[in-house]
Amino acid sequence: MTLELISNPSLAERTTLRLGGTAEVEAVVRDRRDLDGLGDFLTNQTLRPFVLGEGSNLIASDGQLDLALIRVDTPPGPERIEKVEDKLIVRCGAGQRLPGLLGWAQMAGLTGLEGLTGIPGSVGGAVAMNAGSYGLEFGDLITRIQLWSPAQGIFWLNADQCVFSYRHFYPGTHGGKCLIWEVELALTESTPGAVRKVMQEVYKKKKATQPVTAKSAGCVFKNPEGKSAGMLLDQAGMKGLRLGGMAFSDIHANFLINEGNGTSKDALALIEHGRTSVVEQFGTNLELEVIVL
Ligand SMILES: Cc1cc2nc3c(=O)[nH]c(=O)nc-3n(C[C@H](O)[C@H](O)[C@H](O)COP(=O)(O)OP(=O)(O)OC[C@H]3O[C@@H](n4cnc5c(N)ncnc54)[C@H](O)[C@@H]3O)c2cc1C
Repeated sequence: MTLELISNPSLAERTTLRLGGTAEVEAVVRDRRDLDGLGDFLTNQTLRPFVLGEGSNLIASDGQLDLALIRVDTPPGPERIEKVEDKLIVRCGAGQRLPGLLGWAQMAGLTGLEGLTGIPGSVGGAVAMNAGSYGLEFGDLITRIQLWSPAQGIFWLNADQCVFSYRHFYPGTHGGKCLIWEVELALTESTPGAVRKVMQEVYKKKKATQPVTAKSAGCVFKNPEGKSAGMLLDQAGMKGLRLGGMAFSDIHANFLINEGNGTSKDALALIEHGRTSVVEQFGTNLELEVIVL
């Protein structure tokens, strides 16, 4: 296999918010054998490397960005590995889509992931962001992770060697900055019907309170300790506020929406306005959950 390189990849096409200009190059890793080529590619690189998942937590700036994107494409799908006591260990490649993993688990009658229903993105992105909702974080289910770096090659870390916190993952002192390649999760045997029922309930709840089908990057800001960022933004008058083609959602003030012809400039201006308004009115500094490229 040779590493595929794509020139001037569009960030608008690669992010769910559909914003941004172009990176300089994208390296597409399709197979474990491509990792050697990726090492050579990164060694000779003067551009900023950035591992891209499904782009569902990103705001890409307008214009030409000095980025070398790295994307894991068509990695191994979910598979049952072994049973350990009452847990079923499942292995899944980082480039798989998280909703695909949830769908697979439902069909297999494996419970544990249902709280993550409605979260888009890749399995790698869900690890990197420690994605979560309704009290469940992806890291809660992970038993070990396979990582790759140019210096160390491919290696496994147990979950207890890594740091998982609110929308944050760090592969401990053993890892540093790495590509997430595969992950193993501990799920519990149930039935397809029971798992589907919980997933449907979670999705219904989300659909009633979040703009799940709009072009967004999920929550813009993290919830401050004991508070809801959406509530603070709402009370500061941000709900439904528009600038150009961008808006804070009418349904949930912490979701920024591209109404069709939005630009990153407008998105970033709205975010700054929201952040300043909340500081001025409530003295709370909101921290970004989305990553700005
Ligand atoms: C409608 C909607 C609802 C959402 N709801 C939620 C929610 O309820 N809870 C929640 O936590 N999030 C939510 N999100 C945000 C987002 O879906 C998650 O953060 C998701 O896990 C990001 O995955 P991704 O593949 O899109 O990552 P990207 O956005 O592409 O990247 C995010 C980060 O992950 C890193 N990354 C991605 N893949 C790898 C890899 N293989 N190796 C190393 N690093 C990698 C990137 O470098 C970047 O730092 C929502 C987003 C949308 C659009």
